[in-house]
Amino acid sequence: MEQRELVIIGAGPAGLTAAVYGKRAGLDVLVLEKGKAGGQILITSEIENWPGTISASGAALADSFRAHAEHFKAEFRTAQVNGLRPDGGKTVVITDKGEIEAQALIVASGANFRKHGCPGEKEFMGKGVSYCAVCDAAFFEDLEVAVIGGGNTAVEEACYLTRFAEKVYIVHRRDQFRADRLVAERALANPKIVPIWDSVLEAIEGDGLVERIVLRNVKSDQKNALAVNGVFIFIGTLPNAAFLNGVVHTVDGGWIVTDENMKTSAPGIFAAGDVRNTALRQVVTAAGDGARAAMSAYAYIMEQK
Ligand code: NAP
Repeated sequence: MEQRELVIIGAGPAGLTAAVYGKRAGLDVLVLEKGKAGGQILITSEIENWPGTISASGAALADSFRAHAEHFKAEFRTAQVNGLRPDGGKTVVITDKGEIEAQALIVASGANFRKHGCPGEKEFMGKGVSYCAVCDAAFFEDLEVAVIGGGNTAVEEACYLTRFAEKVYIVHRRDQFRADRLVAERALANPKIVPIWDSVLEAIEGDGLVERIVLRNVKSDQKNALAVNGVFIFIGTLPNAAFLNGVVHTVDGGWIVTDENMKTSAPGIFAAGDVRNTALRQVVTAAGDGARAAMSAYAYIMEQK
């Protein structure tokens, strides 16, 4: 079986930072990623809270993170991780390309968008329903769209959508955004953005393509149809954790519990970034986690020698 010192699952900001730190510590580092390196920032329109860079597209930042890890000669492999098997302090990583024994493992597999579950969501996916403004905004040039959610993602991506759409409704279940105040104020000052407060999405309807959504006001219980051509759903994330299968302690459907040094409940397995059970999921916190996880993995490998 292939044997490696440090295996990192996921090439988002956490995994790529861990790769840089691991290589600089002199470790043999293999990064496994099922798609393109970058993680969720690949589909983030703009990032303006990465220190030292006032504003950058998520894709540009992702490219620079990967280039940084490559500069230090981290090895990358496209592979889908299907399971883990602890083995006497080491971990066997089961992938679609075979098994790899890791002296230390960092799980930095991130999170993915949460689906809503209302009638029509599945039927109109790719026909007006989207989870990625960067990918799909251009299809809605001069049209009207609705964004569902009130967090940073919903409000920031709504602002991005105004570059294309004629009008962007933000449908939020409360009367105040969860998004950071500066982000919320910017959105509310945008003449193309119309907030719809205290409202939840009940159904998405149309004939082949999205034509309208049905909303319910949670205070009056009244239902209304709103004509839109697109629905962008940003109602939070779920951890990419299916492959963990009980090997490490998780909470609330898969978020990994770690200590402050990114140690999980399993020896030699560390976690970093959005997949962790953490209150703040940011590029900068993911990067910080990645650095700590790599240093903890280094210490663990040295202890085992
Ligand atoms: P989030 O912060 O968890 O916000 C989810 C939003 O969706 C909330 O407004 C929530 O409403 C709403 N919601 C949840 N379930 C819903 C449902 N079933 N129906 C209707 N609305 C629902 O998720 P996120 O915006 O995707 O952000 C994820 C993490 O990434 C957060 O930690 C966020 O701060 C971070 N992030 C940061 C930045 C940045 O700093 N630039 C950008 C993007 C994301 P309630 O408010 O009522 O709970």
